Amino acid sequence: MYLSVTDSPAPFYCCYLLRSLKPGSKDYVYVGSTPNPTRRLRQHNGEITAGAAATRSRRPWEMLLIVHGFPSKAAALQFEWAWQNPHMSRHSSFDAVPFKDKRMLYGSAQKRLETKLVALCVMLTLPPFRLWPLNVACPDPLLYADVQSRALAHAVPKHIAIDNREIARVFEQAATDISYLGLPAAGELCGVCNDALTESRPWGACAECSATWHLACLANQPASLSLPLLPTTAHCIRCQHQFTWGQAVRAFTLSN
Ligand SMILES: [Zn+2]
Ligand SMILES: [Zn+2]
Repeated sequence: MYLSVTDSPAPFYCCYLLRSLKPGSKDYVYVGSTPNPTRRLRQHNGEITAGAAATRSRRPWEMLLIVHGFPSKAAALQFEWAWQNPHMSRHSSFDAVPFKDKRMLYGSAQKRLETKLVALCVMLTLPPFRLWPLNVACPDPLLYADVQSRALAHAVPKHIAIDNREIARVFEQAATDISYLGLPAAGELCGVCNDALTESRPWGACAECSATWHLACLANQPASLSLPLLPTTAHCIRCQHQFTWGQAVRAFTLSN
């Protein structure tokens, strides 16, 4: 029972990684975000006019992977910025990043595939991103295997699913697959911090009693395992119902 659900689902919004196929542009990549990855790739490749001027000189492009499951456009844009600028994201949580990764993330090769793959895996282990119900779709078999082993090596949280579905298919299915709780109702409060819930901060609801909270606030509850570890279990702040963190994250969507 989700008593506070509104009828408008959060629209699909994803971050994507492009690789240039232009001769001499080996592993030159570009990070962006869009509500429609199929159409956006056509824009980058000049098949549709308007937009994408920054990538004109490196055409053609292929879309290697997308990250989706963002609770809002604002959340996707936050992820996009950090992925584009890991060298500027000197958030204190980056202190925990191993030195060899840090050297790459803060280095000059910001447009290289290797840098973006490391940045992606590192970001998925850091707050706030690791608390979000994200998924990665990476259809190329070789790159998919590569991303999987990197995710394992970086200990990307298990609730973040990495699959090899076709990107166009993920996008088509999103309309039917994804049924978010929707935007929080006006005036609805986080049961932990008492601040208003907004669409820009991921939130969840208890499946038992419909209490609501910011995911980050719930993760910081003493009952959850303390950060910097990802909590493995959490308790509802109202009814004490216990669930795994994966369930807390998935509680954000109605389909689970
Ligand atoms: Zn809160
Ligand atoms: Zn509850």
